[in-house]
Amino acid sequence: MDYPVFDNHVHLQRRGRYIDALKEFERKGGTGLMLIALPPSEMADFDTYFLRMYEEGASLRDGALSSTQLEVLLAVGPYPVTMVEMAARVGLEEAERRMMDAAELAGRFVSEGRADAIGEVGRPHFNVPGELMEASNRIMEACMREARSAGCPVILHTEDPTPESLLDLSSIASRAGIDRGRVIKHHCTDLIGPEENHGLFPSIMATRSIVFSAAGKGTRFMMETDYIDDPSNPGAFMGIGTVPRRTRELVERGVLTEDDVWKVNGDNPARMYGREVLAGRGR
Ligand SMILES: [Zn+2]
Repeated sequence: MDYPVFDNHVHLQRRGRYIDALKEFERKGGTGLMLIALPPSEMADFDTYFLRMYEEGASLRDGALSSTQLEVLLAVGPYPVTMVEMAARVGLEEAERRMMDAAELAGRFVSEGRADAIGEVGRPHFNVPGELMEASNRIMEACMREARSAGCPVILHTEDPTPESLLDLSSIASRAGIDRGRVIKHHCTDLIGPEENHGLFPSIMATRSIVFSAAGKGTRFMMETDYIDDPSNPGAFMGIGTVPRRTRELVERGVLTEDDVWKVNGDNPARMYGREVLAGRGR
């Protein structure tokens, strides 16, 4: 293969396959990925909770860089579901304050060059009481503002996308003053047209039907697995080899040309993250 293969949403865990999974990705043609830091499994020691989360993400990324030839980028930020769990323990107000601090800390990680994006942040993907959703919207907006100041993209975890919900997210982006094109909708479907996503950038699930439908409309998207690397639940979500396989299918079946693939897997991430993530160009 002489084109890049980029997975825009990957989780890794030290107790999971970690380097082994990265080597499989590389062997199958992967050239780069966005690693999204996971919150600690223990809801404890809230004073250092987010710092530990971000530092573990940075450490996993450093290990990935030294063990493979992959371009590995990192996103850190307060995970939206953490807000729900934290509010149940310390109350809504205190949880919001801590999530806001975590947004600021994420901005600092990017400014210091220890992370490349703020994510995954946003609001719960399930129904929660109104005041919890309002607090989550305020936190999401704060994360967008941090991303704007740090000059990086923000990666959103929210409810399943519809043109209406994406319009709502894009108006929050406008309020935060961040360029909509730097707001990435994670877990997106084939809504890659501007009238469908209102300028947000789609990171689409790498299922065959979604990818083929999106690729039939254009090249303004990235693909993702949301690989979870959970040894206790190995069948959950897509395998780490999915984006390489899907990319190959797109070319073999003539849905995209190799030039188009360069746009999706090379130019789009490079433009978004300001990094050379192109195949074989190294670091
Ligand atoms: Zn995720």
